[in-house]
Amino acid sequence: MLATPIGNLADITARGLAAFGVADVVCAEDTRVTGQLLKSYGIHATRLVSLREHNERSMAEQVINWLREDQIVVQVSDAGTPAVSDPGARLAQAVRAAGLRVCPIPGPSAVIAALSASGLTAPSFLFHGFLPPKSGERRRTLAQWSAAPYCVVCYEAPHRIEDSLSDIVAELGADRPLLLARELTKTFETLRAQSAGEMLEWVRSDANQRRGEIVLIIDAVPRVDDDEALPPDAVKTLEILAAELPTRQAAQLAARITGANKKKLYDLALSLKPERE
Ligand code: SAM
Repeated sequence: MLATPIGNLADITARGLAAFGVADVVCAEDTRVTGQLLKSYGIHATRLVSLREHNERSMAEQVINWLREDQIVVQVSDAGTPAVSDPGARLAQAVRAAGLRVCPIPGPSAVIAALSASGLTAPSFLFHGFLPPKSGERRRTLAQWSAAPYCVVCYEAPHRIEDSLSDIVAELGADRPLLLARELTKTFETLRAQSAGEMLEWVRSDANQRRGEIVLIIDAVPRVDDDEALPPDAVKTLEILAAELPTRQAAQLAARITGANKKKLYDLALSLKPERE
């Protein structure tokens, strides 16, 4: 399983080139794309065969036969790491199930490239891959992440980016921080972080942002540190308001006045309630 460049051909690894050099068979998603890559490095693979989603199962049997004959088989997708939103997983599964060795030759992947330059600090991330193409299903998918304490990395097609951003605004709010990473490692590489509402306006107003290859990262909702105590002025303000107002309203007002966490103020207001009654 050999990773290939996602734009800049210089990103092929030394190990990747060596593996191409010794391969008896190269299984490629599109033999023309991989043929170009090999040509640019002056490599003439013994055999270049097609392995795509629709023939992955049947090709897996063929690959197993080759491996049993001690042939070296390399699998690649058009760009990036095989099996990451690309063919390869079924092949790896079948080969390993046959008791043979599957070996990763790591390298470029759009998800990792985007994350590495994002500057997002959430401690964990979910890689979702492509969002559903239809709005209804997409919105249901997005709704799961309304309070996600991790960031979510999505691949997106350029002709769907505007609709997807629109659904993000509707489901996650215009303030949700996003990062758009477009054409990574290529001439028009663009990385931009802004709120979902601003991002939608930007993409709407500039057709160039609806071209090329896109990774969209939905940032995490900042985690509320439960151990962090409410500041004394917030507690005092809440006590005064809670003596006069309904619990929810007191918590809301105290949060607006002091900037403290509304949920914590509400919980505290609830705990104060019996004392007032
Ligand atoms: N296996 C690949 C990988 O490891 O990155 C991903 C393959 S997936 C079929 C293709 C999608 O990856 C594109 O639609 C885009 O969302 C993302 N992608 C690939 N190359 C990219 C690039 N240079 N810049 C931004 N996104 C890219």
